[in-house]
Amino acid sequence: MLITILQITAVLIFLVLFITIVFKITRKSHFVDPLPDHFLNLLDEHVDFYHQLDEPGKKIFEKRMQQFYAEVRITGIKTDVEDLDQVLIGAAAVIPVFDFKEWEYTDLHEVLLYPDAFSRDFDQSGYHRTITGMVGSGPLQNVMILSKQALRHGFLNKEDKSNAAIHEFAHMIDKMDGAVDGVPQALLSKQSVIDWQKLMRETMQAMRNGESDIDLYGLTNEAEFFAVASEYFFKQPELFQQKHLELYAMMEQMFARKENSNEQ
Ligand SMILES: [Zn+2]
Repeated sequence: MLITILQITAVLIFLVLFITIVFKITRKSHFVDPLPDHFLNLLDEHVDFYHQLDEPGKKIFEKRMQQFYAEVRITGIKTDVEDLDQVLIGAAAVIPVFDFKEWEYTDLHEVLLYPDAFSRDFDQSGYHRTITGMVGSGPLQNVMILSKQALRHGFLNKEDKSNAAIHEFAHMIDKMDGAVDGVPQALLSKQSVIDWQKLMRETMQAMRNGESDIDLYGLTNEAEFFAVASEYFFKQPELFQQKHLELYAMMEQMFARKENSNEQ
């Protein structure tokens, strides 16, 4: 009897190990390795962050995109996911966390690409077509939705401070501690949480007083402030630094940009 129980236990342990190993191999086999040449051309042409990296930095960036593609599915809803969309989504995922070598968006399984803006009930043809992206909750817990038009605008229009995809990935980073509240604890020490909240409130007050060029959508709440400030920080870093020195310095630390040796 004892032998039988031991045998069954041994078989069960073996099965669990076997399934774990197979699962890991299967996950790895989804790696797109290496990125095709035309992806690299699209990156170089449209993604300034990548364009400004040196060669070793570019290689790291590409590797991080491959990892992202291995873990997150990108699905078009009533639209095709073209190569450019695939490249821009991967780039938007990597840019904010480029300096965190082991970063993984553990809560994200799928990005749904919609052709255009959508309303809260996902109707794409109503009057309130103002949402250009969202991080899902409830049944859509592990899903991000992006508008193709806003995704492309964020990278192809170089003049403004908006980037809808980086906005949503900032929410995703913020969400990793369980709360989308503008305080991304994954990026902050205990002491800097307090400093960040103080600086956030001061900046939001300046925005209310009309003394800031940060998009007023950031006044919706602190989560939106963090997402809007992140768009500006990554899209127009020189201007952001010039206009918001303290905020820039704090965000540079949060995103670990300061120690970055990959960028020239
Ligand atoms: Zn938002």
